[in-house]
Amino acid sequence: MIRAVVWGENVHEQTNQTVRDTYPDGMHACIAEALNAARDIEATTATLQDPEHGLSQARLDETDVLLWWGHAAHGDVSDEVVARVADAVWGGMGLILLHSAHFAKIFKTLMGTPCNLTWREAGERERLWVTARGHPIAKGLPDHFELENEEMYGEPFAVPEPLETVFISWFQGGEVFRSGLTYRRGAGNVFYFRPGHETYPTYYDENVRKVLVNGVRWAQPDAPRLKEVHEAPNRTVDTALEPIEERGPKLHADGEKGFR
Ligand code: ZN
Repeated sequence: MIRAVVWGENVHEQTNQTVRDTYPDGMHACIAEALNAARDIEATTATLQDPEHGLSQARLDETDVLLWWGHAAHGDVSDEVVARVADAVWGGMGLILLHSAHFAKIFKTLMGTPCNLTWREAGERERLWVTARGHPIAKGLPDHFELENEEMYGEPFAVPEPLETVFISWFQGGEVFRSGLTYRRGAGNVFYFRPGHETYPTYYDENVRKVLVNGVRWAQPDAPRLKEVHEAPNRTVDTALEPIEERGPKLHADGEKGFR
């Protein structure tokens, strides 16, 4: 079983009637339900309002893939939890960023770029084209599919060049956007997937649900989690694999921690 956790900010579900009507149990619950329909995935949920945002170290230790949806309250996510999630990704946990999570602290941390884009909220038709045929995340999808109402996100999208671009979106207003991007960060697989504005029923769409299931399968780790991802041990002369003689001037003492 792949253990997935769907993290939802859960703010607009409480404050906006349209969002509440569309996702009465929260977007995170809808996404988890889509994942649980797959026999090999066991999805649970966590929200911003939970203690430690529902992402304690113990919980992350037992999570294979974390999905992240946030929009209005990126700044309310504690830096300590963001650092913990980043360590988990570097250690091998999969991470899937959904829609407005492009501005989530965790995404910006892992990308190292501003992650900004252009946008318009006008209920436009979005047409997603598969740009990586045969990619596991596109498995079972037609060569393109449409969402009748979505928010527009347009290029330029200020992210690093991805490993692979799995989808490109076209919008009625003419913009295009790289809407499915894969990255490797440390030992962790990272997938950004664009659709999912909270006022539209995007996460009920069968093709979108297929992408989420495929994404979780693709992002799952294939090895045990690496611990101590920040360790930088000093390998002393006497422990070198081949005999060497120490020479030249020296700044550090044998075995010392070094600078950070
Ligand atoms: Zn949005």
